[in-house]
Amino acid sequence: MQKTLSERDQAVIWHPYTQMQSAPAPVAIVRGEGALLFDEAGNTHLDATSSWWVNIHGHAHPHITARLAEQAARLHHVIFAGYTHEPAVALAEKLLPILPGTQQKLFYSDNGSTAVEVALKMTIQYWQNKGQRRTRLLAFHNAYHGDTFGAMSVSARSVFTRAFDPYLFEVTFLDLPGAGNIDALLAQVDQLADDTAAFIFEPLVQGAGGMVMYEAAWLDKLLAHCRRKGILLIADEIMTGFGRTGPDFAMHALQTGPDIITLSKGLTGGTVAMGVTTCTNEIYEAFLSDNKLHTLFHGHSFTANPLTCAIALASLELFLDPGCRQQRARIETRHRAYAETLAKRAEVKNVRMLGTILAFEVITPGQDSYINNLAGFLAQWFKERRVMLRPLGNTLYILPPYCITDGQLDQVYEAIDGLLEALPE
Ligand code: PMP
Repeated sequence: MQKTLSERDQAVIWHPYTQMQSAPAPVAIVRGEGALLFDEAGNTHLDATSSWWVNIHGHAHPHITARLAEQAARLHHVIFAGYTHEPAVALAEKLLPILPGTQQKLFYSDNGSTAVEVALKMTIQYWQNKGQRRTRLLAFHNAYHGDTFGAMSVSARSVFTRAFDPYLFEVTFLDLPGAGNIDALLAQVDQLADDTAAFIFEPLVQGAGGMVMYEAAWLDKLLAHCRRKGILLIADEIMTGFGRTGPDFAMHALQTGPDIITLSKGLTGGTVAMGVTTCTNEIYEAFLSDNKLHTLFHGHSFTANPLTCAIALASLELFLDPGCRQQRARIETRHRAYAETLAKRAEVKNVRMLGTILAFEVITPGQDSYINNLAGFLAQWFKERRVMLRPLGNTLYILPPYCITDGQLDQVYEAIDGLLEALPE
């Protein structure tokens, strides 16, 4: 008998973040349209978390497909050192002016983690090129910035990093700012400022850390203080960028502009992998020199791939259409109404939302840890109902593509209500 795609997968594939010994067979997806994915048996799966937070306009969007086809007929790839091409330049021209702060140069790489690596290298070498000994990096406790070694180093030490902890470089971790600790945090920054190169943070929402939300006003205060002390500010907008938190970029909610921004995920509408790191001219100019050692020695074989850039441009066109903002506002309104009813339920706590992200914790009798048993129960519940919600421990969240319909949102809310009724004692 012919094997299914899922069976063939199990013979040859090693999946990310997956304990392959106990993982159930993966669902084989053959097609996507809007917020729906179709499996090999013809079932639909509702993508309520944007396929790892990447998709913004829906799957297989015709505008993106058309732009990709046009570009594919012209140029697939060219080395990006010493050569350039229209889609790379046009994307930078379009993207830089709409970013928070004053972003003037754009560096291409391959994904979110590499965008973070580039940002870290930019800040570390910036100070070296200027002949100053600033080496310390600051990040928030509970942060997540990616899975490569530099990105892991500026992320929280956790079950995900445990095997590698001895190989990660030292970083100073700060608490998230709030009314109760802001003065202490500013004093801590004063203590650390002299030798600190940069501070990397996920503005307003710590994604992988459990959709932890914190207020723009306190972050702004902390960042303004860091700026006064000469610390470079790296806003990791890989998850928050392209409208997820309400404004186009989360940093738009603050007065203080970042020196560097990292982007990925929604950058290509969630279609293909790409990362970018943008910076101010102040940073860029520190690398201009007769001394070759002042060069930023970083690059990847597929840096600024023309197909990828053309896709990102097409996605950006859709993003800049006023209709996209209306869709986001619609989701926000619907989420707000549902959040109100949800907050009254005894089985949940800490219901919170920002833009199109709605999150809460399911109350567990045991410990709130990523690998508790409830997480498995929650994941299985939604998988069986073909609503793609992947809990982070006992944190459940909705982070949908903006094209999700009202009816589809209701389906997600109903699935959550159903789960809360069915929770084990
Ligand atoms: N930074 C943040 C804030 C992220 O959420 C992620 C991915 N979840 C990354 C960096 C890493 O991106 P990638 O998975 O593309 O390497």
